[in-house]
Amino acid sequence: MNTPILYSGLPLDRAHGLRRHADLGALARLPDARFSLYWRGRQLIRGNPPVAALSGGTPLIEQLLELDAPLLLLGLDGDSPVLASDLSALDGDEDGPRLTVEGRWVLLRSVGGLLPAADAALLAYARGMLIWREKTRFCSVCGTRLSIADGGHSAKCTDEACAALHFPRTDPAIIMLVTDPDGRALLGRQPVWAPGMYSCLAGFVEPGESLEEAVGREVWEEAGVRISSARYFASQPWPFPSSLMVGFHAEAPHCEPHPDLHEIEDVRWFTRQQIRQFGEREAPSPDGLFLPSRDSISRALIEDWLGG
Ligand SMILES: [Zn+2]
Repeated sequence: MNTPILYSGLPLDRAHGLRRHADLGALARLPDARFSLYWRGRQLIRGNPPVAALSGGTPLIEQLLELDAPLLLLGLDGDSPVLASDLSALDGDEDGPRLTVEGRWVLLRSVGGLLPAADAALLAYARGMLIWREKTRFCSVCGTRLSIADGGHSAKCTDEACAALHFPRTDPAIIMLVTDPDGRALLGRQPVWAPGMYSCLAGFVEPGESLEEAVGREVWEEAGVRISSARYFASQPWPFPSSLMVGFHAEAPHCEPHPDLHEIEDVRWFTRQQIRQFGEREAPSPDGLFLPSRDSISRALIEDWLGG
């Protein structure tokens, strides 16, 4: 596997020991502390080509603390703490929140493939953590408000009798490129996708099944194809909102696919030659077909197969 997987490869030390007893206010006030900022799904970047904007400085920190904005410790860059903060409580407009800070506010997927890999990983990590935090304010056992602990990496129920602990969740999803003995790959499309895009089949892992079983079930459910083997390829953090995509190459005998029209609009076998003629979203092939964006493991699976 030579294709790098975007959104993995975090350059920080996650500082597990430090975050256990971290005083986030004190860490935030350290002169070398830097912040990855988040506002209503968007994150701060700067420059062209873009890089992750890590903001700092006393006026910003005082604003964050005054706002009581959710903070969490992402980790250490050398000895310097890197934190993430959610400013969604601030008013704003399409340009972002009312905050004087250098950069522009974007959805990660709109720039993911343009960012340096380390920056894409940092923003994916911050996004995943802050989305979890945004959705995890009350105990799912008893409904009581939660108290954040471990530098933002866990939440504890404030009802002493319950005291349930909650941790950031990552939902495993499998994604697979199915190929046949004729050298063809099975690609499909969901009706909600941009017209012309074909991609690997994918789905969530269900309780009580292994990753390999999930691959077999999803290919059968979505395409009516029975696979004969599944081989692990790579995995990708996918905080849109909270998945881990686990990629497989799978093999199936020569057969005709039958799409489940509730989920899949079309599924077809394509040869390498056909797929090499697919374009990009901005410049599709003459018949309007294009591959998923270069930030996705789906694209990495297809490129890996094309190069094989
Ligand atoms: Zn509880």
